[in-house]
Amino acid sequence: MQNQAFAIAVDGPAGAGKSTIARLVARQLGFVYVDTGAMYRAIALYTLRRGISPQDEEAVSAAVPEAEITICYEEGIQKVLLNGEDVSEKIRREEVGKAASAVSAYPAVRAHLLGLQRSLAQTTNVIMDGRDIGTCVLPGAQAKVFLTASPRIRAMRRYKELKEKGEMCNLQEIEQDIIERDQKDMSRPIAPLKQAEDAVLIDSSDMGIDQVVSAIIGTAKSKGLMVR
Ligand code: C5P
Repeated sequence: MQNQAFAIAVDGPAGAGKSTIARLVARQLGFVYVDTGAMYRAIALYTLRRGISPQDEEAVSAAVPEAEITICYEEGIQKVLLNGEDVSEKIRREEVGKAASAVSAYPAVRAHLLGLQRSLAQTTNVIMDGRDIGTCVLPGAQAKVFLTASPRIRAMRRYKELKEKGEMCNLQEIEQDIIERDQKDMSRPIAPLKQAEDAVLIDSSDMGIDQVVSAIIGTAKSKGLMVR
């Protein structure tokens, strides 16, 4: 029996497979999966719908208090609500991801979401993924993982995913976009993407999904997680 909520923080660059892996780990351990990227995407969607440029920090920051983000779970799947509307599907578009990368650099946006992210981990065992979970959101997380893979492998995975959805895409463009997004996430002054000192590095370039899932569960066990 664990008396305190156990948190697994998973950070890493775009397309590293964080959400696929975290979802599987959550299912195996009976944890709640919290996808923080979805929250930034919901803010980005709100600004795009309002006709605000994601590059306009002042306008985005002024609009943020009007975007109420809530999270709920349906059969264990996270749903993101934007002012009460379920936007879980709409936030998956590439243009929303790009806008999320821009607006997530603004202090007002990050402050708006931090309380929600922390509160979700307070009383429930969670596996939370993002860019700054181990360093800023849950610095006290019992287990921390930095999940990465080479840009080419990450681009290929995303290309396959988009193709399967029937979307037009180009591998070179996806790779370029991934490199640019990582650069932006790593170089921003606030909550940049970086490996926490106490995080375990997992490079999944040559690993299968099951191997990565086992490695994360192994890390959590080595940090005191007790599983029946
Ligand atoms: O992970 P995902 O691609 O859904 O995230 C969208 C964008 O949100 C990322 O490119 C990143 O800029 C931002 N993000 C962040 N901090 C997090 C999660 C996501 O800055 N914890």
